[in-house]
Amino acid sequence: MYNQWPYSVDFISFNIPTVNINLCYYYIPNPTNKAAIQIQLKPAQQPLFINLHDNEKTSVQAALTCIQQHDYGRLLELSHKKNRLVSLLIDNYPCKFDPNRIFTDTGIENTLKKYQCFSKKHFFLTKQFAQLIIHQINIHNFPLLIALHNNEDKTGNKENYNILSYYPGGDEAENTEELYHNQVHCPDDFFITTEPLLFNYIKKNKFNVILHKTTGVNDGSLSYYCALNKISYINVEARHGHYHEQQQMISLLFQYLESK
Ligand SMILES: [Zn+2]
Repeated sequence: MYNQWPYSVDFISFNIPTVNINLCYYYIPNPTNKAAIQIQLKPAQQPLFINLHDNEKTSVQAALTCIQQHDYGRLLELSHKKNRLVSLLIDNYPCKFDPNRIFTDTGIENTLKKYQCFSKKHFFLTKQFAQLIIHQINIHNFPLLIALHNNEDKTGNKENYNILSYYPGGDEAENTEELYHNQVHCPDDFFITTEPLLFNYIKKNKFNVILHKTTGVNDGSLSYYCALNKISYINVEARHGHYHEQQQMISLLFQYLESK
């Protein structure tokens, strides 16, 4: 669906040899509604969305629908053959990493080692790749960076990632500052932010939300990078296929930004 989206898309190429990856840039070039035109004139009021895992398309579709409905907002999407992981062949050696684990040196080293492809050259190229993404984020003015993710329902599986992972004893417990869980919503659908104001707003609206520690574990994620660099950030997580739920969650963020 997002391929047929009627608005302009720019392709930003990574100038790294043999890297078949694009960063797609979506925006509304000519908004029609009055309020949106006003907001378009003030880029600092428009949220910037980013999608790093290319297999998490529900989130992108939901965000593009919300951008279309509101007539403003911009989106960067890493396009890499619809794969979660980036895999490259560099001088005939495979180089594989998680694109959401490359925003610190420690993160790069760990993700390359995890996929058995750590070398100085791969480290350097991955870092260069991360810097290009950061550059694309930094050239924008925005009140909030919104990361788009989808997760799988692996009930009963130890690796199941959802809001329960942030409870004491869970895999993410070390990163939890505060947590609000409303059983009405699916535990796979939740927000993660380091902004107390935003946390309180979402909690007030009774959606699942984690207040992530600003001094959380250095996993090289964009979330960690933003906390370190004081960039206003939120992650919108929903189960694959939870299009309407994720759309509702993203609309709440537009509502928050418009209330400020
Ligand atoms: Zn993801």
